[in-house]
Amino acid sequence: MTKRWMEVFMAKGLLIIDKERCKGCGLCIAACPHQVLAFSGELNRSGYNVVHAERPEACVGCAFCALTCPDVAIEVYRARVPA
Ligand code: SF4
Ligand code: SF4
Repeated sequence: MTKRWMEVFMAKGLLIIDKERCKGCGLCIAACPHQVLAFSGELNRSGYNVVHAERPEACVGCAFCALTCPDVAIEVYRARVPA
């Protein structure tokens, strides 16, 4: 019988938010299933309250936020870490 090995990984996300593209609409905050994002209170050059990752450790890299953003302000990278 062949021995089968299984490795279990969790996804870990890394976010890059372009604050100058952000219009502060909040759609990404609503789209995130892990409550990672929040308004930062920081205004960009256009005067918008921009989003930041308030709980970056909770990001799983699902990219719902990036897919939702109408201004393409979010990039998501995903790494696999042992569970
Ligand atoms: S990649 Fe997913 S978990 Fe991470 S901030 Fe975006 S929506 Fe939330
Ligand atoms: S969806 Fe895009 S434009 Fe809207 S708050 Fe999030 S990052 Fe900013």
